[in-house]
Amino acid sequence: MTKEELFEKNKIVLKKYIPENAVEEVCRLIFEYDFKLIVKKERKSKWGDFHAHPEKYNCPVITINKNLNPYAFLITLIHEIAHCKTYREFGNKVNAHGSEWKKNFQLLMHNFLNTEIFPIDVLFVLRKHMQNPSASANADIKLYKVLLHYDEWSLEKNLLEYLNDGDKFQYDGIVYQKIIKRRKKIECIQVSTGKKYLFSPVTEVEVLID
Ligand SMILES: [Zn+2]
Repeated sequence: MTKEELFEKNKIVLKKYIPENAVEEVCRLIFEYDFKLIVKKERKSKWGDFHAHPEKYNCPVITINKNLNPYAFLITLIHEIAHCKTYREFGNKVNAHGSEWKKNFQLLMHNFLNTEIFPIDVLFVLRKHMQNPSASANADIKLYKVLLHYDEWSLEKNLLEYLNDGDKFQYDGIVYQKIIKRRKKIECIQVSTGKKYLFSPVTEVEVLID
Protein backbone atom coordinates (compact mmCIF):
# COMPACT_ATOMS: atom_id res chain seq x y z
CA MET A 1 0.00 0.00 0.00
CA THR A 2 1.37 3.44 -0.89
CA LYS A 3 1.56 6.20 1.69
CA GLU A 4 -1.37 7.98 0.00
CA GLU A 5 -3.53 4.84 0.03
CA LEU A 6 -2.75 4.24 3.69
CA PHE A 7 -3.59 7.87 4.46
CA GLU A 8 -7.00 7.50 2.77
CA LYS A 9 -7.66 4.21 4.54
CA ASN A 10 -6.81 5.75 7.92
CA LYS A 11 -9.14 8.65 7.18
CA ILE A 12 -12.11 6.35 6.61
CA VAL A 13 -11.47 4.43 9.83
CA LEU A 14 -10.84 7.51 11.97
CA LYS A 15 -14.09 9.15 10.84
CA LYS A 16 -15.95 6.60 12.95
CA TYR A 17 -14.23 7.71 16.13
CA ILE A 18 -13.29 11.40 16.06
CA PRO A 19 -14.90 14.65 14.83
CA GLU A 20 -14.69 14.81 11.04
CA ASN A 21 -12.73 18.08 10.97
CA ALA A 22 -9.97 16.52 13.07
CA VAL A 23 -9.40 13.51 10.81
CA GLU A 24 -6.89 15.01 8.34
CA GLU A 25 -4.61 16.43 11.06
CA VAL A 26 -4.68 13.20 13.10
CA CYS A 27 -3.73 11.21 9.96
CA ARG A 28 -0.79 13.56 9.51
CA LEU A 29 0.29 13.02 13.14
CA ILE A 30 0.15 9.24 12.70
CA PHE A 31 2.69 9.56 9.89
CA GLU A 32 4.82 12.16 11.60
CA TYR A 33 5.24 10.22 14.86
CA ASP A 34 5.01 6.79 13.23
CA PHE A 35 2.90 4.76 15.63
CA LYS A 36 0.17 2.17 15.40
CA LEU A 37 -3.30 3.01 16.72
CA ILE A 38 -5.41 0.18 18.13
CA VAL A 39 -9.04 0.77 19.09
CA LYS A 40 -9.79 -1.55 22.01
CA LYS A 41 -12.92 -2.64 23.76
CA GLU A 42 -13.82 -0.68 26.87
CA ARG A 43 -11.41 -0.86 29.79
CA LYS A 44 -12.77 0.55 33.04
CA SER A 45 -9.32 1.44 34.36
CA LYS A 46 -8.24 3.73 31.50
CA TRP A 47 -9.31 5.47 28.29
CA GLY A 48 -6.07 4.88 26.43
CA ASP A 49 -2.36 4.20 26.75
CA PHE A 50 1.00 4.37 25.01
CA HIS A 51 3.60 1.61 24.62
CA ALA A 52 7.01 2.63 23.33
CA HIS A 53 8.17 -0.97 22.80
CA PRO A 54 5.16 -3.24 22.38
CA GLU A 55 5.76 -6.97 22.11
CA LYS A 56 4.09 -7.59 18.76
CA TYR A 57 5.04 -4.48 16.79
CA ASN A 58 8.25 -2.78 15.80
CA CYS A 59 6.86 0.73 16.29
CA PRO A 60 5.16 2.43 19.28
CA VAL A 61 1.51 1.57 19.87
CA ILE A 62 -1.34 3.74 21.13
CA THR A 63 -4.56 2.09 22.29
CA ILE A 64 -7.86 3.93 22.83
CA ASN A 65 -11.20 2.58 24.11
CA LYS A 66 -13.75 2.32 21.33
CA ASN A 67 -16.74 3.31 23.47
CA LEU A 68 -15.53 6.89 24.00
CA ASN A 69 -17.54 9.67 22.39
CA PRO A 70 -15.69 11.52 19.55
CA TYR A 71 -14.49 14.36 21.79
CA ALA A 72 -13.22 12.12 24.61
CA PHE A 73 -11.62 9.89 21.96
CA LEU A 74 -9.80 12.79 20.32
CA ILE A 75 -8.57 14.28 23.61
CA THR A 76 -7.32 10.87 24.76
CA LEU A 77 -5.65 10.24 21.40
CA ILE A 78 -3.79 13.59 21.44
CA HIS A 79 -2.76 12.92 25.06
CA GLU A 80 -1.19 9.63 23.93
CA ILE A 81 0.38 11.12 20.77
CA ALA A 82 2.05 13.64 23.09
CA HIS A 83 3.61 10.64 24.91
CA CYS A 84 4.84 9.33 21.56
CA LYS A 85 6.31 12.70 20.55
CA THR A 86 7.99 13.03 23.96
CA TYR A 87 9.38 9.51 23.65
CA ARG A 88 10.78 10.28 20.18
CA GLU A 89 12.49 13.39 21.54
CA PHE A 90 13.69 12.29 24.98
CA GLY A 91 13.44 8.50 25.12
CA ASN A 92 12.72 7.36 28.66
CA LYS A 93 14.76 10.13 30.24
CA VAL A 94 11.83 12.30 31.36
CA ASN A 95 8.77 11.79 33.56
CA ALA A 96 5.68 10.41 31.80
CA HIS A 97 3.52 13.42 32.61
CA GLY A 98 6.33 15.90 33.22
CA SER A 99 6.89 19.34 31.72
CA GLU A 100 8.16 17.96 28.36
CA TRP A 101 4.95 15.94 27.87
CA LYS A 102 2.76 18.87 28.99
CA LYS A 103 4.44 21.17 26.47
CA ASN A 104 3.99 18.63 23.67
CA PHE A 105 0.36 17.97 24.59
CA GLN A 106 -0.33 21.73 24.48
CA LEU A 107 1.52 22.08 21.17
CA LEU A 108 -0.35 19.19 19.51
CA MET A 109 -3.74 20.18 20.90
CA HIS A 110 -3.33 23.75 19.64
CA ASN A 111 -4.57 22.87 16.13
CA PHE A 112 -7.72 21.24 17.51
CA LEU A 113 -8.86 23.89 19.98
CA ASN A 114 -11.59 25.47 17.86
CA THR A 115 -15.33 25.28 17.30
CA GLU A 116 -14.89 23.41 13.99
CA ILE A 117 -13.93 20.42 16.11
CA PHE A 118 -15.29 20.79 19.65
CA PRO A 119 -18.70 22.02 20.82
CA ILE A 120 -18.43 25.32 22.65
CA ASP A 121 -19.07 23.87 26.15
CA VAL A 122 -16.33 21.25 25.73
CA LEU A 123 -13.98 23.83 24.22
CA PHE A 124 -14.44 26.20 27.16
CA VAL A 125 -13.50 23.55 29.74
CA LEU A 126 -10.82 21.99 27.56
CA ARG A 127 -8.99 25.31 27.10
CA LYS A 128 -8.75 25.58 30.91
CA HIS A 129 -7.66 21.94 31.20
CA MET A 130 -4.86 22.52 28.68
CA GLN A 131 -3.28 25.31 30.76
CA ASN A 132 -1.94 22.61 33.07
CA PRO A 133 -3.11 19.19 31.84
CA SER A 134 -3.39 16.40 34.39
CA ALA A 135 -2.23 12.82 33.89
CA SER A 136 -5.71 11.77 32.78
CA ALA A 137 -8.62 13.72 31.34
CA ASN A 138 -11.05 12.03 33.71
CA ALA A 139 -9.05 13.29 36.72
CA ASP A 140 -10.29 16.76 35.74
CA ILE A 141 -13.86 16.57 37.07
CA LYS A 142 -15.15 19.51 35.03
CA LEU A 143 -13.78 18.08 31.79
CA TYR A 144 -14.99 14.60 32.67
CA LYS A 145 -18.52 15.88 33.31
CA VAL A 146 -18.80 17.90 30.12
CA LEU A 147 -17.53 14.91 28.11
CA LEU A 148 -19.91 12.51 29.84
CA HIS A 149 -22.77 14.66 28.66
CA TYR A 150 -21.91 13.72 25.06
CA ASP A 151 -21.83 10.03 25.97
CA GLU A 152 -25.52 10.24 26.70
CA TRP A 153 -26.05 11.87 23.34
CA SER A 154 -23.91 9.41 21.47
CA LEU A 155 -26.20 8.11 18.74
CA GLU A 156 -24.89 4.57 18.51
CA LYS A 157 -25.85 3.71 22.07
CA ASN A 158 -29.46 4.63 21.36
CA LEU A 159 -29.87 2.42 18.33
CA LEU A 160 -32.23 -0.50 18.83
CA GLU A 161 -29.63 -3.04 17.73
CA TYR A 162 -27.39 -2.11 20.69
CA LEU A 163 -30.06 -2.89 23.26
CA ASN A 164 -30.18 -6.31 24.87
CA ASP A 165 -33.10 -8.63 24.27
CA GLY A 166 -35.71 -7.91 26.93
CA ASP A 167 -34.73 -4.22 27.30
CA LYS A 168 -37.51 -1.67 27.30
CA PHE A 169 -37.42 1.44 25.18
CA GLN A 170 -39.62 4.31 24.13
CA TYR A 171 -40.37 5.21 20.51
CA ASP A 172 -42.76 7.99 19.54
CA GLY A 173 -43.87 8.12 23.16
CA ILE A 174 -44.87 4.44 23.25
CA VAL A 175 -43.12 1.85 25.42
CA TYR A 176 -41.89 -1.33 23.74
CA GLN A 177 -39.77 -4.28 24.76
CA LYS A 178 -37.09 -5.70 22.50
CA ILE A 179 -37.68 -9.40 21.98
CA ILE A 180 -35.33 -10.84 19.35
CA LYS A 181 -33.66 -10.16 16.01
CA ARG A 182 -35.35 -11.87 13.08
CA ARG A 183 -33.47 -11.71 9.76
CA LYS A 184 -32.99 -8.00 9.13
CA LYS A 185 -35.62 -6.74 11.56
CA ILE A 186 -36.01 -6.72 15.30
CA GLU A 187 -39.17 -8.09 16.85
CA CYS A 188 -40.57 -6.00 19.70
CA ILE A 189 -43.81 -5.94 21.63
CA GLN A 190 -45.80 -2.91 22.65
CA VAL A 191 -45.86 -3.27 26.42
CA SER A 192 -49.38 -1.92 26.97
CA THR A 193 -51.10 -4.11 24.35
CA GLY A 194 -48.75 -7.11 23.91
CA LYS A 195 -48.91 -6.57 20.12
CA LYS A 196 -45.82 -7.51 18.06
CA TYR A 197 -43.98 -5.03 15.81
CA LEU A 198 -40.91 -5.26 13.56
CA PHE A 199 -38.37 -2.43 13.77
CA SER A 200 -35.23 -1.65 11.78
CA PRO A 201 -32.10 -2.35 13.86
CA VAL A 202 -30.94 1.25 13.35
CA THR A 203 -34.09 2.83 14.79
CA GLU A 204 -33.11 5.55 17.25
CA VAL A 205 -34.91 4.87 20.50
CA GLU A 206 -34.95 6.18 24.06
CA VAL A 207 -33.55 3.55 26.34
CA LEU A 208 -35.59 2.87 29.45
CA ILE A 209 -33.99 1.64 32.62
CA ASP A 210 -36.32 0.56 35.35
ZN1 LIG B 1 -0.61 9.75 29.94
